[in-house]
Amino acid sequence: MTHCIGRETSDDYDTVGNRSSTSAEHPEESLRMKESGVRLKKKSSPYGVSVPERKLTAHEPTERAPLPEKAMISLHQNIGAPAQALVKRGDRVLTGQKIADSDKFVSAPVHATISGEITGTTMVVNPPTAQPVEALIITSDGTDEWVELEPVENPEALSTAETLKRIREAGLVGLGGAAFPSHIKLSPPENARIDTIILNGCECEPYATSDHRVMLECGEKVLSGLNIIRRLLSPQCTYIAIEDNKEDAIDHMEDLIVAMGLTKEIKIVPLESKYPMGAERILTKLLLGREVPIGGLPLDVGVVIHNVGTTQAIHEAVVEGKPLIERVVTVTGAVANPKNLLVRFGTPLRNLIDFCGGTVGKANKIILGGPMMGFAQFDLDFPTVKGTNSLLVKEDAPVTEQHCIRCGRCIEICPMRLMPTLLAKCAKAGRYDECKEAYIDNCFECGVCTYACPASIPIVQHIKVAKKELAKRAVKR
Ligand code: SF4
Ligand code: SF4
Repeated sequence: MTHCIGRETSDDYDTVGNRSSTSAEHPEESLRMKESGVRLKKKSSPYGVSVPERKLTAHEPTERAPLPEKAMISLHQNIGAPAQALVKRGDRVLTGQKIADSDKFVSAPVHATISGEITGTTMVVNPPTAQPVEALIITSDGTDEWVELEPVENPEALSTAETLKRIREAGLVGLGGAAFPSHIKLSPPENARIDTIILNGCECEPYATSDHRVMLECGEKVLSGLNIIRRLLSPQCTYIAIEDNKEDAIDHMEDLIVAMGLTKEIKIVPLESKYPMGAERILTKLLLGREVPIGGLPLDVGVVIHNVGTTQAIHEAVVEGKPLIERVVTVTGAVANPKNLLVRFGTPLRNLIDFCGGTVGKANKIILGGPMMGFAQFDLDFPTVKGTNSLLVKEDAPVTEQHCIRCGRCIEICPMRLMPTLLAKCAKAGRYDECKEAYIDNCFECGVCTYACPASIPIVQHIKVAKKELAKRAVKR
C-alpha cells in the first residue's frame, strides 16, 4: 500500500510510494507533521536555480479588467484539436454560450466571453506553436448578458460520467500552462493506478502571481475543485505544493483545510522557492521519489497534478455550471501599475497594458508567460487565451550568442540531468538523431540552462527547434 507523507504518528516519516531512493539520497528532507497536522516540513530541492523572483504584484488584489468592445476568441485553446465554429456571422451570442467544439478525443469547446454579435473571423497566432489559428470576432452589445447557468446543489450526487461531462462542456483545460483538456486528465485508463494527487500552487516563474492570488482570494473554490477531483480519482494521498515565498497562501490554505475538516485527507508541502519547482516532473520526484519516464506523464507513475486555477475552474464548472471564459492574468514588468486582472479570454493584450497605465521606460518586448518559459508576442492586438496566465512587458537589450566556453554550468544546473550544451550543439548542426540519443525528449524546456549560460547561447531555443524537427520526422514515418 502507498505510504503517505505525514500519515504517521511517530517522528520518522517515509516519502510516499518508495519507488526510488530519493528519501535515502536526501534523508534531511524526510517530512514531519506540524501542529494542525496539515502543514508538513518544508522540502528543499537539489534541482533548479534561485532566480530573482520579482513578484511585483504579490500583494495586489485581483481587479476585473474592462470587458473588450471586440473579443477575438481563438478556436484553438487546448493542446489537442482546434474547435469548429458552431455560430456564423450575424448570430447573436450570449456570455458563456458554447460557440465552437470538436468531436476529436483531445479537444475542448470554446465559449463566448462577452455577449454581442459575431461580426467576422480573423487569424491570430497560437503562442506555443507560433502557428496562425482562426478566431471568431464578437462585437459587444454592452450588456454582458449570460446564458442561463445550471448549477447543482449537491455535486457529490453526480456520477463520474456526469461530473466529467460538466467539466468537458465547460471547456476546461489545465491553467498551469499546458492547456491539456481537464476531462481527459481526469479520465485515466482503466489499468492506471492513481494513488496520489498533487495540487500545484508553486508558481515558480518570476513575476507571475495569478496562482498566488487565486489561493488567497478563491481558496474555498480551489479546495472544492480539489475535492471533486478526489472523488473522481479516489487517491490515497493528496498534497498541495506551495513555494515558501507564498507564506500567506500556505497559512490561508492550511486554515481552510482545517475549517473544512479535511486535515486527514489533504496535506500541504511547503517547498523551497526555486525555479523550476512547479514543473510536474520535479514535483513528482521531489515529493514522491518517483521518476516520470522519458516521454511519459506523472500518470505513468500513479500521480495526477493539477494547477490551483484549474481546480477553481473545476468547482465553477461542476457546482456553478459556469464555463471557462475568464481567468486571473498578471500584467507586470515595465507597465505603470502592475496588476492582477480577471480577464475575459479574447481581450486584446493592448487593452490590458492600457488598463495598467501603459508601458514605461524603453519597453520593447511582450512575453506571454514568464521570462523563463514564456513566448515573445509581437502583436498587441493578439487576444488572451485560456493558457495566458501572465503578460510581462520588458526592456530587452539585444544579446550576441558567443562560443561555448565549456564551463559546464548548464549541465550542473539542468534539473533533468541532461547535457544542454551537447543538445544545443547537435541541434545547431542539424544532428537531430544525436539529440534523440542525448535524451532530448526528457527536456521540458524550463529555460534554466539558457538563463545560466555565460555565453548567451539560447540553448532552449535550439532544443525547441530540434524537437520540432524530430516531431516532423516522426509524423512522416
Ligand atoms: S536542457 Fe531542458 S530541462 Fe535541462 S535546463 Fe535546459 S531547458 Fe531545462
Ligand atoms: S553554460 Fe553555456 S558556455 Fe557553459 S557549457 Fe553550457 S553552453 Fe557552454
